[in-house]
Amino acid sequence: MPQILKEIKSLLNHAQNATAHGQANVSFLIKALLRHLKKNIASSAMNYSNQLTTAVFQKLWIAALRQLPHSYSPYSNFPVTASLLMEDGSLFTGINIENASYSMTLCAEASAIANAISQKHQKITHVLVHAPKLDFCPPCGACRQRINEFSTPNTLIILTNQQGNYKTLTMPELLPCSFNLEAHPSSDQSIG
Ligand SMILES: [Zn+2]
Repeated sequence: MPQILKEIKSLLNHAQNATAHGQANVSFLIKALLRHLKKNIASSAMNYSNQLTTAVFQKLWIAALRQLPHSYSPYSNFPVTASLLMEDGSLFTGINIENASYSMTLCAEASAIANAISQKHQKITHVLVHAPKLDFCPPCGACRQRINEFSTPNTLIILTNQQGNYKTLTMPELLPCSFNLEAHPSSDQSIG
């Protein structure tokens, strides 16, 4: 049973008991109920923004597969494609772009992000990554930080396999304790 229904049921039980004992405080109960509803509606709205519906998955998946043949990966022969869904519904894609000087290689996620940012789209809601040669290929460490820069804690990262199955991670799951210039909650402890 969803938490909100449990809470409503408990409040109703409380009301019945109070009434039975002649102690009903209707105003108190209504206020408590409204508080719970308000909290639940706010949290549902937040969750809704990063739900992965079949339609959203299909949109990202098809865009990523269309982009895949453009991967420039002659050295590793390990093509990767990524697609991004932005807050306003815009879609951007990228592929890995290798270089004879290996360290200059650009990841698929990085090229998709560069594509989005250069067109003034900065809030990512979903990231899909696909590498045909590795099931559920995760973003590399550097790309986790890159994605984090343009994400919220609700941004979903979708890892796929060849059959079109997927796993999802939230941004904090993908990159716990990410680097940013805001202070982290204090974890330092005095010694002595
Ligand atoms: Zn990367």
